[in-house]
Amino acid sequence: MKEFKLAQPQNLAQVTSLPSDQRYFLMAGGTDLLDEIKNEIIDPGVVVDLKSIPDLAYIRSTDEKIRIGAMTRVSELAENSTIKTNYPVLHEAALSLATPQLQNVGTVGGNLCQRPRCWYYRDPQVECRKKGGSRCYAARGRNRYHAILGGGICHIVYPSDLAPALISLDAEATIATANGDRTVPLEEFYTLPRVDVRKENILKANEILKEVKIPPSKNEGKSTYVKLKERGTWDFALVSAAVCGIVSGNTFKDIKIVLGGVAPIPWRLEKAENLLKGNPVTDDVVKQAAKEALSDARPLKENAYKQDLAAIAVSRAVLSLV
Ligand SMILES: Cc1cc2nc3c(=O)[nH]c(=O)nc-3n(C[C@H](O)[C@H](O)[C@H](O)COP(=O)(O)OP(=O)(O)OC[C@H]3O[C@@H](n4cnc5c(N)ncnc54)[C@H](O)[C@@H]3O)c2cc1C
Ligand code: SF4
Repeated sequence: MKEFKLAQPQNLAQVTSLPSDQRYFLMAGGTDLLDEIKNEIIDPGVVVDLKSIPDLAYIRSTDEKIRIGAMTRVSELAENSTIKTNYPVLHEAALSLATPQLQNVGTVGGNLCQRPRCWYYRDPQVECRKKGGSRCYAARGRNRYHAILGGGICHIVYPSDLAPALISLDAEATIATANGDRTVPLEEFYTLPRVDVRKENILKANEILKEVKIPPSKNEGKSTYVKLKERGTWDFALVSAAVCGIVSGNTFKDIKIVLGGVAPIPWRLEKAENLLKGNPVTDDVVKQAAKEALSDARPLKENAYKQDLAAIAVSRAVLSLV
């Protein structure tokens, strides 16, 4: 492991005012960042420990929003009774994530900003495009776990379970910057590789994800998270589906579907949403909508199975809400 300096700021302003030419990395729980340092995928220079900043871990309910601080541990999210009762999709996603030990250390902010799991990226010997090289080794190499949608120049899948769940709930992200806070829909927080292949989100140097906010739950709203994995024990999603909807009689008045494990960003399935809205929810209608929406997929050599798996995840999640 290369040596690094540890900075322990006392407030967010000390982080947002760090010189932007300095090489530093933010550390929350460290479950991902320390792996990257140990495996020499990154050379951090300075590690900025966000744990030294007070009051970044909270789940607060107001009339307008539920506010979740970036340093809130995933286990706190999974155990919170308001989240469990009113936002099942988020509760189920938090519970499905990694192991109880990792849930106890990993934070919401860290989970939403974690780096990709592509094995070429995680191999210190390989300098692929994401690390500044000129090739995507997954494009023609081993790509069983890679993207079937939105890939292009880099075929990672975004690995977070919390991100699709939060996006299905219309969450917003508050970003601390040197000029004050700015808020964006979480859906717009993530960016495709074609925007900047080295990054997965819109954060600029010196910016920090400070909190996520979710709107109040609708009384008649229902939600769920379906995660399909290769192994029965802890694992990243091969494919996941976060679904929130309002069912009236046997019809969807409103529905939002976000997939994980299929694209470099959490992938909104608007085509399926439009096919389902206002239509009677039957097995055939749901399966047909999922199939049609996934006909846009462009699988690589080894991952065509994800197209069928994603349709199954969507159908299962949608039908469970009726
Ligand atoms: C064995 C294993 C299994 C796992 N399985 C799953 C799984 O099934 N599902 C899943 O979703 N995840 C899974 N993960 C990933 C795990 O959830 C993440 O490692 C964890 O959530 C990261 O949180 P952290 O607080 O430890 O972040 P850190 O490791 O501290 O940081 C992660 C990244 O986010 C950046 N960062 C952290 N906080 C902020 C912030 N507030 N603002 C801006 N940038 C920030 C850091 O600079 C770093 O690049 C797994 C990890 C491991 C090791
Ligand atoms: S998918 Fe992305 S991270 Fe993986 S080898 Fe290709 S460029 Fe690198």
